[in-house]
Amino acid sequence: DHVANQIAAGEVVQRPASVVKELLENSIDAGASQITLVIEDAGKSLIQVIDNGCGIPEQDVRLAFERHATSKISTAEDLFKIRTMGFRGEALASIAAVSQVDCISKTKDDQVATHLSLEAGKVVHQTHIAANQGTILSVKNLFYNIPARRNFLKSAQVEQKHIYEEFIKIALAHPDKRLKLINNDTEVFHLLPGNLKQRIHSLFGQKTADNLLAINEETSFVQLGGYVTTPTVAKKIRGEQYFFINKRYVRNTYLHHAIMTAYEGLIGPELFPSYFIFIEIDPSEIDVNIHPTKTEVKFRDERTVYHLLKSAAKRALGISAV
Ligand code: ADP
Ligand code: MG
Repeated sequence: DHVANQIAAGEVVQRPASVVKELLENSIDAGASQITLVIEDAGKSLIQVIDNGCGIPEQDVRLAFERHATSKISTAEDLFKIRTMGFRGEALASIAAVSQVDCISKTKDDQVATHLSLEAGKVVHQTHIAANQGTILSVKNLFYNIPARRNFLKSAQVEQKHIYEEFIKIALAHPDKRLKLINNDTEVFHLLPGNLKQRIHSLFGQKTADNLLAINEETSFVQLGGYVTTPTVAKKIRGEQYFFINKRYVRNTYLHHAIMTAYEGLIGPELFPSYFIFIEIDPSEIDVNIHPTKTEVKFRDERTVYHLLKSAAKRALGISAV
């Protein structure tokens, strides 16, 4: 069981950024309106997420760290109407198996918060503590019990970059939330609640924010929104290219191609536009269950989405779509 936990952990927890992603998603699922991410040592010594979400009831706190314990899905049918970020009930168990965790959580009905400490997945301490409603999840010394994995981590600079990237994805998907990122005691981001354009401005600066072209397309089964950028601000580096399906960041080379095709003839061959595309679709039209980190999503009807996106992008760029 111990070994099984470590192996399963490897699928979900590849690096500090994977922990960041899972913890931020849990805070979103908990309905938090304010989330603070604190990292030290590029997440290698500390990853802490503080939220003002619903909290975990005292009697469920231990359960939350057991494999396949999720409060979000109760029937197989629910898998086809997933609206939450999490549903596998694997993340906390996987993270706890390879680190030292402190969880402080309080619901609005509990008088005091519960404080649970785990090491390598085993509970070492449980007590009460005074705290506000919400959850503080601290993950210390990731992979301390698997030296081979710990040594395999990249430089602080690289790991930090991956962490920032996860934070940015969540920040884009949830411009209505107040989000903070504190790195080694320095506040890197303090994002105020606003709309998508304001969020893009805070994250990527004035020039990008001033060159956004709105995407708007709706059919009976899919809704496309967000922005592409004017050809004038195309960049030499690939980045600032984001797809979200039902507010979940996804990678999709096929849809990326749809956008690049729309820019054909408008930008040089070695340049990339920035884009922030939001796709809203009935959960039964997609399958998010194909990969543990859920960054790949399968559409039932990918071709239709491709053509819609391409023509929506063309229209935004001022090209009459054929
Ligand atoms: P999943 O998100 O797939 O349900 P996790 O392992 O990520 O599984 O979390 C397990 C459970 O712990 C969740 O279903 C939820 O009930 C609870 N939980 C985790 N993080 C939080 C949080 N920040 N606020 C409230 N509840 C949480
Ligand atoms: Mg989760």
